[in-house]
Amino acid sequence: MPKAQETLLEIDLNALKHNFDHLKSKLQSGTQFLAVVKAYGYGSDACEIAKYLQDLNTDYFAVAYTKEGVALRESGITKPILVLHPQPVNFKTLIANCLEPSLYNSKILNEFLTVASGEKQKEYPVHIKFNTGLNRLGFWENDVDYIASKLKATKSVKVKSIFSHLAASEDLNEKEFTKNQIKTFKTIASRFSETIGYKPMLHICNTSGILNYPEAHLDMVRSGIGLYGFGNSKKENKPLKPIATLKTIISQIHRIEKGESVGYNRGFKSVGFLKTATLPIGHADGIGRQYGNGKGYVLINGKTAPIIGNVCMDMIMVNITDIDCEEGDEVIVFGKDKTAEDFANTANTISYELITSISQRVKRVFI
Ligand code: PLP
Repeated sequence: MPKAQETLLEIDLNALKHNFDHLKSKLQSGTQFLAVVKAYGYGSDACEIAKYLQDLNTDYFAVAYTKEGVALRESGITKPILVLHPQPVNFKTLIANCLEPSLYNSKILNEFLTVASGEKQKEYPVHIKFNTGLNRLGFWENDVDYIASKLKATKSVKVKSIFSHLAASEDLNEKEFTKNQIKTFKTIASRFSETIGYKPMLHICNTSGILNYPEAHLDMVRSGIGLYGFGNSKKENKPLKPIATLKTIISQIHRIEKGESVGYNRGFKSVGFLKTATLPIGHADGIGRQYGNGKGYVLINGKTAPIIGNVCMDMIMVNITDIDCEEGDEVIVFGKDKTAEDFANTANTISYELITSISQRVKRVFI
């Protein structure tokens, strides 16, 4: 791999295929696979990731918002796309782009029915979301009769799936809670099918659900973080591989004497001689201020260089006193060995937050 000459996020498509194959290998042959590519494909470039996964025959995609679905359509994604959190203001655009809404409360259901019938739609595919314990979005079990009465009164839409979302599938101490969510969902699903008179697809598992609750794979699973290489089950030896490596370079090296300070607000004051390197990456690129002042660290020529002082908008400074390096050398912020999860943990956050925060100013390079 040629050395980085600027800040870039390198995406390893072989690792993506490996993760996809690993997750698929956990499923029965009839279970469909939905790839979650919201939030710019968890920071990896949704359109490029989706094109690659479409070629691997992914059955479905999901995004959070209509705008993200439109971008996928414009880049040539023809597979079904579920919009998890659509806003009524965008319903006409959603229909114009053949995107499939999640309907999670009576307001959204009624507004979608109005738009779909106004647009003269017939059996437009929709997905009904039920809350089984996450308490975020979703109808309740006792809404089943109401939803069914609304749906029976129209030919504009047809329920393609009913689904729910697990709250703690990665936490094996919460097994009882998760099993209860699954049980509640199955109860709702059979009541729903009986009331409506047909059987929509059922899905509830995210990545950790796939790995920890095989009995809940049902008709489809929805995987996000696992595709990007995180969310390994504690029971396995990390088979999922991080696909993204964040690289930068050394712009300048400084020699700092005792008593001098480094960065804004004199965030770091030296108690002795040290060497620092200034790197062209900062909070505008997604490395937030919480990583400053010794929390986060980068790798330079295989050695650890802690971030010193405050993170600036476009730069960080790191301590390279004991590292043999020069201006222009490559720097690894996170990647395969020191992962985004390791880096995120230094600031008490999670890989999801870090990887989705890498701003679009950082060039994505696919290998
Ligand atoms: N399904 C829904 C409704 C989600 O909101 C998400 C992600 O937040 C996923 C599936 C994918 O979850 P994970 O990234 O843990 O696989």
